[in-house]
Amino acid sequence: MPATPAWPPGSLPRLFVDTTLEDDGEIVIDAAQANYLVRVLRLKAGAQIKLFDNRTGEWLAELAHIGKRDAIVRVEGHLRPREIVPDLWLCFAPIKKGRIDWLVEKACELGVARLVPVKTQRTIVDKVKATRLQSHIIEAAEQCERTSLPDLAEITSLDTLLSNWPEERRLYYAAERGGDSVIEAMSDSNGPAAILIGPEGGFTDAEDEKIRAKEASVPISLGPRILRADTAAITAIGIWMAHRGGWIRK
Ligand code: SAH
Repeated sequence: MPATPAWPPGSLPRLFVDTTLEDDGEIVIDAAQANYLVRVLRLKAGAQIKLFDNRTGEWLAELAHIGKRDAIVRVEGHLRPREIVPDLWLCFAPIKKGRIDWLVEKACELGVARLVPVKTQRTIVDKVKATRLQSHIIEAAEQCERTSLPDLAEITSLDTLLSNWPEERRLYYAAERGGDSVIEAMSDSNGPAAILIGPEGGFTDAEDEKIRAKEASVPISLGPRILRADTAAITAIGIWMAHRGGWIRK
């Protein structure tokens, strides 16, 4: 179910629709979204909402007709173009259900461009429910006012990830066995980047060696304590975004 906008109170509900939006276009929204607008938010015909499509940006729209199962929405005007997303990937070993849901939600809010689940030797979860994760991503994007959705890649093995690694993309490897200070490592770089986080059991020695051997690899330390994988991921994303995610007004 789509999220209610958190702030400001009373701001217009925002929905993602998987269809290209254009001026004066009419679109049919599905039963779940119609139910949310009509029964949860109790909107009446004529109410205004916002839509985004991950292609053309964000639009103002009007709830034109409420049907039994769906609803028709009329697009009224363009509000914002699709944002330029900071070029950061999060590569992470999948973790248990509740935690992975939380992880993708927070990574989306913080602004990552792509989420890449990675199978490692100690990964305990080797399948991810892409549809469930995708719905968490959409909810987070609706709530946090993104005009883009992060890509969710198919699960890949660590070996495949490393052998196909695009060398121009810096690979910040969160290494609990030691690396550079994350703050310094992330402050002096430009260009595409990725953060790699291990599973709850950590990377094996062989994996650690392979990751460090990559030209693009920059091992980083996230401080003196061992963090859970989800905490490590969100911390590293936050630090990268603070340097490179447009958080500093220039
Ligand atoms: N090997 C650990 C747990 C791994 S924590 C154990 O003893 O059980 C899961 C992942 O979070 C790690 O693989 C690493 O990528 C990241 N991580 C956790 N704490 C970290 C730290 N202090 N610095 C860098 N990465 C860290």
